[in-house]
Amino acid sequence: MTILILGAGQLARMMSLAGAPLNLNVVAYDVGSQKIVHPLTGEVYSTTLEQAIESADAITAEFEHIPDDVLTICCNSNKFFPGKAAIKTGGDRALEKALLDKTNVTCAPYQLITEKAHLELAVKNLGKPLVIKTCQAGYDGKGQWRLKSDDQIDEIWSQMADFIASGTEEAPHTIIAEKMIPFDREVSIIGARDKHGNVAIYPLTENEHTNGVLTLSIAGKNNHQVEQQAVDAFTKIANELNYVGVLAIEFFDVQGTLLVNEIAPRVHNSGHWTQQGCHCSQFENHMRAVAGLPLGNTELKHITAMINVLGQPSIPSDVLKTVDVTSHWYGKTAKPGRKMGHINVSAVNMSELADKLGELTEYLPEQDYPGILKAAANLVLS
Ligand code: ATP
Ligand code: MG
Repeated sequence: MTILILGAGQLARMMSLAGAPLNLNVVAYDVGSQKIVHPLTGEVYSTTLEQAIESADAITAEFEHIPDDVLTICCNSNKFFPGKAAIKTGGDRALEKALLDKTNVTCAPYQLITEKAHLELAVKNLGKPLVIKTCQAGYDGKGQWRLKSDDQIDEIWSQMADFIASGTEEAPHTIIAEKMIPFDREVSIIGARDKHGNVAIYPLTENEHTNGVLTLSIAGKNNHQVEQQAVDAFTKIANELNYVGVLAIEFFDVQGTLLVNEIAPRVHNSGHWTQQGCHCSQFENHMRAVAGLPLGNTELKHITAMINVLGQPSIPSDVLKTVDVTSHWYGKTAKPGRKMGHINVSAVNMSELADKLGELTEYLPEQDYPGILKAAANLVLS
């Protein structure tokens, strides 16, 4: 079976690696170069997108920001999962909020903005501070502003106006202002839904962000009380979208109550721990779902933490001295802050995980790998 993935980054790479033992052959469409490429080697094929669609048994995507015409031709083949509506919703915060409102899933209070008066209304109704985000095109904390005082309104509005003006009639640019949520922690739920509507959901993941970018995830803490809220939200949203594939939902935990932050209609960085933490990783389950195969086991096999490698030229090989540490390198050219790889660390219990994280800080300095020591200290307390 051949699977065509729209997008040729690390998520396509890891889906390809997970698909190989299932005899799923993956080719990727590089949206930037508009070429069909090998997801691991980057080798460029002479195949056109139309030919790749024709010869694929199933088509999926590794990210949301895909040109509309590409999505349309993929959808017209009836092989595209999770479908155009899900991808569009995940790529537009306004559509995302509309879906949450429709399914009665709580999120941060918000105000859509297309003119300056709306920004002033947001300040008046939601209060300060505000987190302001572009509805389209943002990722890894990009396309965001923090408004803390009234004297920032003019400056932020002028930048927002530039973004709004760069939209077109077919692809309008809009902005959303959200109340800044004083959360205790951030968590995410990741699960798969198959073509028959069966779902398999991974345990809740706790996520640490630094400057708006995910730096560390931990799975395996006792989270039952809040986990059920996340599972309910997942089920409502996945069913509403008649979703097929892996879906991720990020939440703010405010004193035990979850508010949705955002939805990703794809495998997600906060699910990379499943490669070692579960029998069937999020990548394999996504491949299984879109290929029409039965879903795999999502139960926790090992307590696991994932450390993101951001902007580094390589993963220090000394980390492999620690038992049950695996290194995942994406083969990209290093740029400051760029997601280059990740490190998974598994343990039999939280105190062993804390010890291993402590051990790794010898090779992973705080300035390059923030939050590891703090996470280890919190694990000892929990
Ligand atoms: P990614 O693609 O990495 O998930 P993103 O660019 O899509 O990031 P968000 O997830 O919306 O952006 O925001 C990035 C981070 O900024 C969040 O994980 C959270 O730490 C913080 N943040 C976003 N919205 C709010 C909010 N309303 N209140 C408090 N913090 C927020
Ligand atoms: Mg996010």
